[in-house]
This record gives sequence, structure tokens and C-alpha cells, in this order.
Amino acid sequence: FELERLGVHDSVEAVFPPAELADFLSELPADVTVVGDDEITDCDAIVTLEHRDAFLECSWIHSIQAGVDRFPFDEFEEHGVTLTNSTGIHDRTVGETVAGYLLAFSRRLHDHVADQQDRRWERPEWDEAFTLPGTTACVVGTGTLGTGVADVLGALGVRVIGVRRSGEPVPGFEEVYASDDLHEAIAEADFVVVTLPLTDETHHRFDADAFDAMAEDAYFVNVGRGSVVDEPALIDALEADALAGAALDVFETEPLPEESPLWEMDEVIVTPHCAAYTRDYFRDVGEIVRENVDRLGDDEQFYNQVV
Ligand code: NDP
Repeated sequence: FELERLGVHDSVEAVFPPAELADFLSELPADVTVVGDDEITDCDAIVTLEHRDAFLECSWIHSIQAGVDRFPFDEFEEHGVTLTNSTGIHDRTVGETVAGYLLAFSRRLHDHVADQQDRRWERPEWDEAFTLPGTTACVVGTGTLGTGVADVLGALGVRVIGVRRSGEPVPGFEEVYASDDLHEAIAEADFVVVTLPLTDETHHRFDADAFDAMAEDAYFVNVGRGSVVDEPALIDALEADALAGAALDVFETEPLPEESPLWEMDEVIVTPHCAAYTRDYFRDVGEIVRENVDRLGDDEQFYNQVV
């Protein structure tokens, strides 16, 4: 298709100002503008956070997120719409966020932040704080997020093992298990970190049996997608002290409903789906869009094409 008009959909506002990206892309050989829902059908291509039915009338949709589970793949295919995503850019950001969770738990920082709200001077019990070298993290999903997490945790002295479908080795992971051996892999970990996409196969992969397989003093971290976890089963495990705690960036329902018990648990860190946030986000996404506009001009296969 001929790219005449590329729209930056205003839903990206949740992550960065749409005008920053439009400005970054202003040198492209196309008209680049910020668009609302009314102007979608005037565009050949859209860069977006959310999905809109009107996208079916465009030729190319680029998701500013790596996760594309909210887009209707079959309908895109039927209407000849190409979908690309932003995998490949979230390694360092998510890696540092996960390191932050682990350091909070090991150095008890979340307790001190909570105590500070009440002007309470309270030191940890003598055996509560620990250091990370010598601990093991099992990272489930060894793609961009998983390797970024492995890289940052490895630098902190954490032993990192991984899980992927094939079980084939990945640099940065001391050992990699096949997903059939998930329970065996997570059983030996002090931290289980989920960096999986949401697919039919991964939906509720972390259920009561998985939490049973984890050690009682292990922490659970999810930065993949909420529905990879059976959230009521996680809440049951936390309430039964069958886990030490959890750090969660993604949830089955977002925003996390006010009545969720997760908000109030001392050993749970809740972050609002922002593990990958960085002030460079629009640039990182912009580079992928530029690359694909170049490829379109050269009649080459798109980078990060999903549909
Ligand atoms: P990648 O495609 O790079 O990595 C996904 C990894 O998951 C692959 O290594 C794949 O390995 C593995 N995988 C897929 N299915 C299974 C399975 N059934 N069992 C075990 N492993 C599996 O994607 P990213 O790392 O960029 O992103 C991963 C997900 O993280 C995104 O889909 C998104 O939902 C989420 N995300 C969340 C963010 C946040 O803000 N919290 C930010 C960015 C992404 P293999 O093919 O070898 O099985």
C-alpha cells in the first residue's frame, strides 16, 4: 500500500504525549498527525495503544506495546490489515523495575515506605532482611523482557534460570527448562518472574497447582499479562502464607478494582502497568515505526510483524 497519512492515535497519551511521537516522525515521507477516533479512516496507518474497530479500514496498525492480545488477529487478517508490535525495546526498563521489586523485598524498602506514611520508626526483625547474591530467580518467558530481567538480576548476583516452550538455552540464563517442566523449574526459585505474553496456552498458566509448586518463602512477580495468572488462586496462596509475597504490574482487570484484597497486603507491591515506562518510550517506538516505513518503501517484510 501507499503510505500517505500516518496517524498517531490519541490513546498513546496514557504512555507519552502523542505530539512528541508525531514530531519525532515528522521527517517521514508521509503526512504524520495526531488523530482522534473521528479521523482514523482518513489514515493508511495508525500508531496506537488501544484498539478501535475503525482500524479495520486502515492498511497498517502499529501497537506501542509488545503485548497485542487486545487486537482481533482474525479480523485484521480478513480485512488485510498488517499488525506490528513494539517488542524488543522493553528489556532494560522492565529489567530495572523487576530488580527494584527484588531489592524492595530483600532490603525491606516497601515496609519503610509504608511506615513513613504513618511517621513510624520501625526496624525490620533481625532475620527479615537479606541480600540477593545466592538467591535464584526463575524467569518464565525468555524473550525481550525475560532477557532484560536476566541481565539486570545477573548483575546483582542473582542466579537466573528460565522457562520457554522449547527449553533451548538462552544467553544470560544458567539453565532453561521447557514449559512442560514449569513446576519443576519454579520449585527451586526464591523469585518467580513472569514475562510471558497472554496466549491461549499461557492463560491461567499460574494456577493453584503452580503456587503449590513454589516454595513457601518465595516471591512471585508478574510483569507479563494479568490473565497469565489465576488471580483468585494467587490471592488464596498469599492469604494462606503459601508464598512470601508478590510484586504485580499487570492484573486480570485493569485498573485493579478498589475492592481487590491485593491493595492492602503488606507483602504485595502493586504498580499500575508501568514497568516499561521511560521518558524515552516515544523515541524507542518511533525508531521501530521509522524502520518499518523504510521497509515499506523498499518493499521488504515489516519488522515485528504479528499479523
Ligand atoms: P517476546 O516475544 O520477546 O518474548 C516472549 C517470550 O515468551 C518468548 O521468549 C517465548 O519463548 C515465551 N513464550 C511464549 N509462549 C510461551 C509458553 N506457552 N510457555 C513458555 N514460554 C513461552 O515478547 P516481550 O518479551 O517483548 O514481551 C512479553 C510480554 O510481556 C508481552 O506480550 C506483553 O504482554 C508483556 N509486556 C508487559 C509490559 C509491562 O509494562 N508490564 C511491557 C512490555 C511487555 P519461546 O518462543 O521460546 O517459547
